[in-house]
Amino acid sequence: MPVRSKDNFLVFGAPRIEQDEIDEVVASMKSGWLGTGPKVAQFEKDFSAYAGASYAAACNSCTAALHLSLVALGLEPGDEVITTPLTFCASVNAIIHAGGTPVLADVDPVTQNIDPDCIREKITPRTKAILPVHFAGRSCDMDSIMAIANEHGLKVVEDCAHAIETTYKGRHAGTFGDFGCFSFYVTKNVCTGEGGMVIARDETDIQNIKVLGLHGMSADAWKRFSDDGYKHYEVIHAGFKYNMMDLQAAIGIHQLKRVEENFKRRCEIWDMYQEAFRALPVGTPAPEEPDTRHARHLYTLMIDPVACGLDRDQVLVRLTKENIGAGVHYLAVPEHPYYQERFGWKLPDTPHAVALGRETLSLPLSAKLTDDDVNDVIEAVNICLGA
Ligand SMILES: *Cc1c(COP(=O)(O)O)cnc(C)c1O
Repeated sequence: MPVRSKDNFLVFGAPRIEQDEIDEVVASMKSGWLGTGPKVAQFEKDFSAYAGASYAAACNSCTAALHLSLVALGLEPGDEVITTPLTFCASVNAIIHAGGTPVLADVDPVTQNIDPDCIREKITPRTKAILPVHFAGRSCDMDSIMAIANEHGLKVVEDCAHAIETTYKGRHAGTFGDFGCFSFYVTKNVCTGEGGMVIARDETDIQNIKVLGLHGMSADAWKRFSDDGYKHYEVIHAGFKYNMMDLQAAIGIHQLKRVEENFKRRCEIWDMYQEAFRALPVGTPAPEEPDTRHARHLYTLMIDPVACGLDRDQVLVRLTKENIGAGVHYLAVPEHPYYQERFGWKLPDTPHAVALGRETLSLPLSAKLTDDDVNDVIEAVNICLGA
């Protein structure tokens, strides 16, 4: 058995950064071009090629990507957007900031993804869009979601923050809806520190995203004014300042080159966990659905206090004492006071998400982990559960 150093805290979600990223950032700084420039354009091209997307627009976070996509849908006050209660608050906040009203449809307790039958129950004459989240990297049931959307004339914005490598029936997550939104936050499968990407099927949609993401300035207004080279712009929307920097894209270009290699490493870690925890009284992730690829973004254990003799929060405290960093993805959205007060959401309305949110715990799954690190995590989980 490898001996784990109790002095080193194993940080949850530590990114794997290599020399290529460092050199590219330094090259950007030496070139003097720090802001949005050729590296952002390259990253957009590389990302759309990887995801099989027609068009892509980089921005400075997935939160920004979601906000821009929802603004681009032209939500009117009172328009409802159906999403999952088992997500990061950004999915819901983006709907609110775009002027819509979020409506929660409960998740399937096994896949932990939004349940299409629950979506159907929540449709009203005000429903304008569906915002599914491919939770942990597992694809949502896109055939059912797109069928509901087509039947009711709804738009679809996919939150792909966990789902860069995810496929469904051979197609990448994010290519089914009108927009797919990705995150390159430090803990995500491809990282740029902070960063995001919108992909779209329609060229005018992505142009709209680019204008909205840079102050609402029209890039080609100059054509009507230009005489000898000065490029005027026209403001055609009250836009936002959401553009990605070349410094960020410099990291992303090399991270993306290693996306499949890192994915393979996370698959190995995942399999080690699955094997190690088989005999413990904990819930482990369900197998992926046929003809899909799970991106292995989060490896979650379910801590049922009756079966484990400890609740999730007690296990978290013990893991921390064992120098293992863990995460919680997520306390269900209706647990938070802001949403309770504003929308009157009650916990029993989305029982599966609430129950999962109280039992779930995410273990480190970074491609940076060595086998010794993984064995340390396994040993710590065994110690914490008294196994
Ligand atoms: C991380 C995350 C976001 C937000 O991504 P940022 O790039 O940090 O803005 C949105 N939705 C989900 C599901 C996430 O996990």
